[in-house]
Amino acid sequence: MSENKEEVVAEEKVAPVVEEKDEKTATDKKKFYKQHKVNKKKVCIFCEDKNCKFIDYKDPRLKKFVTEKGKIIPSRQTGTCSRHQRELTVAIKRARNIALLPFSGD
Ligand SMILES: [Zn+2]
Repeated sequence: MSENKEEVVAEEKVAPVVEEKDEKTATDKKKFYKQHKVNKKKVCIFCEDKNCKFIDYKDPRLKKFVTEKGKIIPSRQTGTCSRHQRELTVAIKRARNIALLPFSGD
């Protein structure tokens, strides 16, 4: 009798897993995003760099924070903290004025 009870319990545990597999496309997308989020460690590079007290418009790292079209990448994607993102925007705008970086909608 006891063996039968164990079997029933096992089936109950298996059932929800099968249901998840049916929604393959949705779960696959979620897994994909989760994996990529795990791989990306979002840390503000300007906070990590203790030598940099302010963001210079001549800083070569500014290119990392600009798209191909010249748009500034939002901090939620780059991981820049709000304080440095504000400095970054000013630095990028200055860099644009002296043609180090392209204007958006180039
Ligand atoms: Zn920062």
